[in-house]
Amino acid sequence: MKRRTFFAIALWCTAIPAQAQTALIDDPIQALVGRLDLESYKAVIKGLTQFGDRQQGTDRNQAAVSWIETQLRAAGCTNVERFKYVSDPPSPSQPRSATAPLPLIASGEIRRGVGGSRLRGMTRPATANSNLGAQSDPVLRALNAQPQPTTAGPREQVYCTKVGATHPDEMYIVGAHMDGQGFGEGADDDGSGTALVMELARIFSSPDVQTERSIRFALWNNEEGSHAGSRTYAAQRAPLQGKEDPPGSGSYPEPKWLGMVQHDMVLWDHGMPRADGTISPEQRPEADVNIEFQSNARFADQAMKLAFFFRDANEKYATDYPAAIGHHMSNTDSSEFMNLVPAISLRENERGMQIGAGWNPHYHQATDTYSAYSDKDFRLGLNAAQTTLAAIGQLVGATLKK
Ligand SMILES: [Zn+2]
Repeated sequence: MKRRTFFAIALWCTAIPAQAQTALIDDPIQALVGRLDLESYKAVIKGLTQFGDRQQGTDRNQAAVSWIETQLRAAGCTNVERFKYVSDPPSPSQPRSATAPLPLIASGEIRRGVGGSRLRGMTRPATANSNLGAQSDPVLRALNAQPQPTTAGPREQVYCTKVGATHPDEMYIVGAHMDGQGFGEGADDDGSGTALVMELARIFSSPDVQTERSIRFALWNNEEGSHAGSRTYAAQRAPLQGKEDPPGSGSYPEPKWLGMVQHDMVLWDHGMPRADGTISPEQRPEADVNIEFQSNARFADQAMKLAFFFRDANEKYATDYPAAIGHHMSNTDSSEFMNLVPAISLRENERGMQIGAGWNPHYHQATDTYSAYSDKDFRLGLNAAQTTLAAIGQLVGATLKK
């Protein structure tokens, strides 16, 4: 193993000029981005899919929370905590999805989407599947058989924190939601974002990585339907920001929030539905990572700056795909933070104009399974991970101990 690593490094060093070698070695961000790996990222997504769609309130959801906690501890994330809260009561009079069914249509009429977006061109319905029978795989159907509770109840979610060496009282929150719906495997929504955050937690928790500021890696529960997990966290923890507890201990249970970045569906970018309503099975050549902020948020200007900082990080460090910026962030956990702190989200497509127009045929469907995605799709997710790792690494002052 060591021998192979040595040869790999030796080959790698001879392939690039000496000047560039020095630059790479001197740039800890480049070194950290290099620790992201496609197979490792895919393995975490695959691990999450063993719990089916992970609908909040079910045993399979709770088992996934425990698995995530075990993985974070195994990765060396030392400050793993469980956050307990009470879910929202289900409202049967409300449709499960906030997105109204869309006709398959291409027209010049102005149609509004969520977050202030405008739908254009061909659109498909983006309604969540609520029928267990739509799952054709009997094993997965059995795994997802336990229904969601019909009453509100206690829930748990997990996060871990990399403590800053010189500013432990300040942090960025890096999040994704671990629950899903639709009776598939929630591989893209949001196994892909959850795995991204877990991979970053692993890399930043390496003993040779030091950061000036803290980072909290949060795997929200209960995003689907109500955002109860992130909303309760924001409400309960916002007043505790920056308080040393106990006084004089140097310990800050809730460091001051400097920014929040959410990752929600980062795999699929195959373009607009075709005229016949089908969608290309191939990734589109223009595939990109979509960074969004919300122009109506209290911290919109600061969030916009943060979004461009992320885009610059993408241009400098991401290996395969560019990033684009939009101002209609909506329908994910970062919405719960956007009036408290600069908040952005990273996705495969814009939530309003594209996902909301049915660009992803697996969105909230029984077909959102690991096998539905190609390596090109997984690589788009990896590039989102490279983008956030590079941006957050710079913002927290990450360095490598010699
Ligand atoms: Zn999602």
